[in-house]
Amino acid sequence: MELLGAVALVTGGGRGIGEAIARRLAAAGLRVVVSGRDAAALEAVAASIGGIALPADLSDRSAAETLARTVARDVGPIAVLVNNAGIAESAPLARTDDAIWDRTMALNVTAAFTLCRAVMPAMAKRGPGRVVNVASNAGLRGYAYTAAYCASKHALVGLTRALAVEFARTGVTVNAVCPGFVDTAMSERAASNIARATGKDGKDALAALSPQKRLMSPEEVAHAVWSFLPHEARGMTGQCMAVDGGQTA
Ligand code: NAP
Repeated sequence: MELLGAVALVTGGGRGIGEAIARRLAAAGLRVVVSGRDAAALEAVAASIGGIALPADLSDRSAAETLARTVARDVGPIAVLVNNAGIAESAPLARTDDAIWDRTMALNVTAAFTLCRAVMPAMAKRGPGRVVNVASNAGLRGYAYTAAYCASKHALVGLTRALAVEFARTGVTVNAVCPGFVDTAMSERAASNIARATGKDGKDALAALSPQKRLMSPEEVAHAVWSFLPHEARGMTGQCMAVDGGQTA
């Protein structure tokens, strides 16, 4: 797979893990399109990596479809799709209302499904291609107070495995990265919730979950995403790579 100049679409590329992925892929020579809702954040990232910002609210199916069409028409055929945009809300089951469930599924699963459906058939026709889904180690095991998030990430892992098999003969690989807690705004919110509930340092509590006793960095997740891209990685498909300091070992 020739990475130089290939078009990559990274959702949620304006901050956190998505920004690190966008920077990593741009450094590897890809032409990176970043998407998300915050146009200013996307513009800033795009400007600093020589990429393109295309704002979209991906919890809206038609916006996801339009995004895929716009990239293909205005930038070029998508060779690498990174489904990274995601939300995490924690609540006990009884307080996980329909709205939490629906918005979690809409972004964490349906947006990825919609983009895969819009992008992969053309990707497969052209030959080599890569899809990498940013799931979570909550896609590999259960955690309390995260029914919607855990279910969405398990679904994303299932989508990854199904599409990997379906597209196995086409040169398109489909993989997932499954981070533990990563030092971003998302884990900041989780840490604040823990601190409020327990009076303890929330970041320390999250770090303690990993055998390495630390949060992962966005750059470590970006490296894992990149590792699925080269030609030499073409045999890896349907894999769900944990980046969690051994938490799911
Ligand atoms: P983050 O800092 O909260 O970033 C989330 C990203 O998703 C932002 O770029 C955000 O951009 C985008 N996004 C949210 N709602 C969107 C919408 N409706 N449409 C389009 N984009 C939307 O979180 P992060 O830690 O970087 O998380 C990135 C991914 O890693 C997520 O899928 C998350 O589940 C996964 N993950 C994170 C951790 C962790 O500990 N941080 C652990 C495991 C897995 P806008 O706000 O501009 O829309």
